[in-house]
Amino acid sequence: MVVPLCSYRGTLAAMSIVVQKFGGTSVADADRIKAVAAHAVATRKAGKDVVVVVSAMGKSTDELIVLASEVTDNRHPREMDMLLTAGERISMALVAMAIQDHGVGSTSLTGSQAGILTTEEHGQAEIIGIRGDRVREGLADGKIVIVAGFQGFSPETRDVTTLGRGGSDATAVALAAVLRAEVCEIYTDVDGVFTADPRVVPGAKKLDEISFEEMLEMAAAGAGVLMTRSVEFGRRYRIPIHVRSSFHGGVGTWVKEETMEEAIIRGVAHDVSEAKVTVHGVPDQPGVAARLFEPLAEAGVSVDMIVQNVSLQGVTDISFTVPRADLDMAEKVAEAVVGDVGAAGADVDHNIAKVSLIGAGMTDELGIAGKMFRILADHGVNIEMISTSPIRISCVVRGDDVAAAVRGLHDGFALGEEQESAENG
Ligand code: ADP
Ligand code: ASP
Ligand code: MG
Repeated sequence: MVVPLCSYRGTLAAMSIVVQKFGGTSVADADRIKAVAAHAVATRKAGKDVVVVVSAMGKSTDELIVLASEVTDNRHPREMDMLLTAGERISMALVAMAIQDHGVGSTSLTGSQAGILTTEEHGQAEIIGIRGDRVREGLADGKIVIVAGFQGFSPETRDVTTLGRGGSDATAVALAAVLRAEVCEIYTDVDGVFTADPRVVPGAKKLDEISFEEMLEMAAAGAGVLMTRSVEFGRRYRIPIHVRSSFHGGVGTWVKEETMEEAIIRGVAHDVSEAKVTVHGVPDQPGVAARLFEPLAEAGVSVDMIVQNVSLQGVTDISFTVPRADLDMAEKVAEAVVGDVGAAGADVDHNIAKVSLIGAGMTDELGIAGKMFRILADHGVNIEMISTSPIRISCVVRGDDVAAAVRGLHDGFALGEEQESAENG
């Protein structure tokens, strides 16, 4: 759940504010850091107040996670957050120094110094408000303010927290909302939001614009170019988000309320971060599903898709998908419930992936699901689970089939560049 951010009651700054967020690749080394600084300075010189939000350099968050796993097999949520927040602290200080070398004032702030208040769940805290006084003071002093992404602190526990992977996007859009910024720019290693992950589908087409609604579904379905929660903030506080390349100045993709382009299908997303749990031989009686899913919710496991098979002789199988990070807990709960409800057993399947078709135009069009299933069949891809929303259809498939499924759907629905130019010609 997104809790409303504190509203901004101070005097509005005279200049309009731009929030610029740079992802890991965009601050990966000294040259990239200097390029970020030069860009922020140019924006400042063009007459904007600039707040820069940074991710940790390159793959350093992943490296810190591996390092921790070499030190311990146990979970240490608080200390993991202390560890991981160090990544963004490094990049923020380096960017601030590089900006000062241009003769422009700059201050770096940790999430906690910037007043980013969160819930207390380590590793997946949610932003509940932003005080932001020090950010505003820095801007009022004519400085470029650098804020460490992905982190905040919990007023309940007084501890530092992290917002979940990709959380710097959420920091940036939430800050943009509180500061009433004119735009939140997300600088990344691709040119914008594409019709599919351009690393999987080389012919994917960059979208000029996409609605918040469609982007939310794309992000939730695995298009990691924006963190889902950042899109929720954008939609709720009407902050236009411009996803663009940090390597050149070209226009990227505008995520906004309404889009001019009409499209039945906006894109294909895929997600390889989930696993499947199946509880076998479950008695087909009222209350059994509740006895399985209630303890899962209590254990903090976020269940995505659920399928219950046809009942044979009074027993059935129930399968559900969960993020891999929750898998151990989900398996433990499922095994405990097996005895409780008199089921035959539980097992887990790591080799799954989810592929989704997204488009607001789907609601008015018949036959999209049928066409999607036909395309998957023609590519020899078996569908294991299906779920839908008004503007999304998702199928769980074998993990090994995911690339073929994404490319097949992208081609089959003619979402790429070639098809478009052929149509136009
Ligand atoms: P950053 O470190 O800048 O936050 P991310 O790795 O989090 O970058 O997000 C950018 C990546 O998102 C791209 O490199 C791309 O592989 C992936 N991606 C997945 N789906 C899409 C999509 N539909 N459009 C663009 N990029 C996508
Ligand atoms: N550094 C964090 C991560 O890798 C946050 C981010 O980059 O947005 O997930
Ligand atoms: Mg990211």
